[in-house]
Amino acid sequence: MSQSPHHKSFTARLRAHKIFGGIKPAVYKADALRSRVMPAPLPGNLVLPLLQHQGQPAMAVVEVGQAVLKYQVLAMGNGPLSVPVHAPTSGVITAIADSAVPGFGAQVQRCIHLQADGLDTAAELQPCLDYRALSHLQLLALIDAAGICGLGGAGFPTAEKLRVSIEQGVELLIINAAECEPYISADESLIRERADRVVSGAEILQSVCLAKRCVIAIEKDKADAIEALSTALQDSSIELLVLNSKFPTGGERQIIQAVTGFEVPRGLLPVDAGILVQNAGTAYAVHNAIVEGKPCISRITTLTGSPLQTPKNFEALIGTPVSFLFEMCGIDKSQHTGTIMGGSLMGIELDSDEVPLIKTTNCLLAKSTGEFPDPAPEQACIRCGYCADVCPARLLPQQLYAFSRSEDLDQLEEHGLADCIECGACAYVCPSHIPLVQYYRASKQAIAERDRQFQTSKQWQSRFQFHQYRLKKETTKALDKKLPGAEKTTANEPAQPFSRDQARDEIAAAVRRVAARHSNRTAPSSAKDKAKDKDRH
Ligand code: SF4
Ligand code: SF4
Repeated sequence: MSQSPHHKSFTARLRAHKIFGGIKPAVYKADALRSRVMPAPLPGNLVLPLLQHQGQPAMAVVEVGQAVLKYQVLAMGNGPLSVPVHAPTSGVITAIADSAVPGFGAQVQRCIHLQADGLDTAAELQPCLDYRALSHLQLLALIDAAGICGLGGAGFPTAEKLRVSIEQGVELLIINAAECEPYISADESLIRERADRVVSGAEILQSVCLAKRCVIAIEKDKADAIEALSTALQDSSIELLVLNSKFPTGGERQIIQAVTGFEVPRGLLPVDAGILVQNAGTAYAVHNAIVEGKPCISRITTLTGSPLQTPKNFEALIGTPVSFLFEMCGIDKSQHTGTIMGGSLMGIELDSDEVPLIKTTNCLLAKSTGEFPDPAPEQACIRCGYCADVCPARLLPQQLYAFSRSEDLDQLEEHGLADCIECGACAYVCPSHIPLVQYYRASKQAIAERDRQFQTSKQWQSRFQFHQYRLKKETTKALDKKLPGAEKTTANEPAQPFSRDQARDEIAAAVRRVAARHSNRTAPSSAKDKAKDKDRH
């Protein structure tokens, strides 16, 4: 275990703390919460992107035309920052091709297309009746194999997050059930109906990361879910903490502050302080993976917005088209003006509904003009400072906005743009209607592109230097062979790692040898030479 010097211990009784900044927007969860979680019908075709998480795409291990069973692995994880993809139902692989996926703007990615056969024939599962019989590393391997990533929306591979936490040591595991976005109720509906399985998943996560304490943190406006959790936690050592309702309490750093009062310093990760945060939906997926042996092939997602006749929380298969889910909720297309994946504040606008539901889709919000009128025209910043008052990351949004406009990427970095969690609180209060988050996202992309170009040019530079060095070394070897008494090099001489200093020394030595040879040729070395020399003059 390599513990960070910033590691903290949490022994005091936990109590709710205020988070810095934040807003209290109106909440629109009631419509979707009116009914129980329903299984979404099976679509005819599913599209499964190889990249549904943060990191590297998975590697397809099936072929076009192959028949597959439900739960079968379709793509293997490709490194630690990658998670496998499983078949959500039985059927035939019809294509492995680039297709539209949800994301910022038009996004295309490699996807596996599965035509359902309608039989839903499942591969044999291996449930674990007593997870305590397994070591934490065995549990970790099972979570890895189940293809779980952060289902709260971040999509970080869960097994890798746990692995890093085990390495650094965890004092406190926080199960994040805050769900503070105004339209999203996926976790609330999950907990209200299946709190025992969320608690079971939290206990497994605690066993895996060896956290000393575990707390489930939930906002106080979720009365039914709190009651369900209180019942499910009766025989558990896991604590329950009810937090004040404020957006964005559900942010990773914000929930840590709300639970412990401690603000993770800029530049550090929660794990550096011995804290691990996992989402309630992720805990549920972990329960399914270990106790029932089921990989991550479905998730609960909120379908809401005024164009839907029956908003609800659907348990839908990964890969189900968004348009299909909207049809199942009786969408009025004449009202529908667009779709947001995620919440109204932090979500992203989809270009099309012909994209699949992925592991991180916690909400699909159908917009209408009545509910989401066209934004008022953007006006000049009046330096009111409201945005800074609500920024939970203690940033200066108006400064970031100015640097974004002037495309001053260095200043943006210096002023902490990387710490912006894109919560949208600043834009929400801005009287000039400036779409601040759009500016920040564009600037983050510009910084990423600049860094990528820098890395590429560094790689080319180093390849060029190595090429130059190799040429010089070959020239030196050729010269050495011609020199009398030059040491013979053996073919089996082990390859030395490239060293600039050594290269410089070797080149200097070669130059000296060539100069010496040259002077040997030209300098008179004998009486006969001297006579010849004399004759010449
Ligand atoms: S809230 Fe808007 S107008 Fe006010 S300082 Fe921030 S960016 Fe400028
Ligand atoms: S979007 Fe970024 S800058 Fe704006 S309030 Fe949220 S964290 Fe602060």
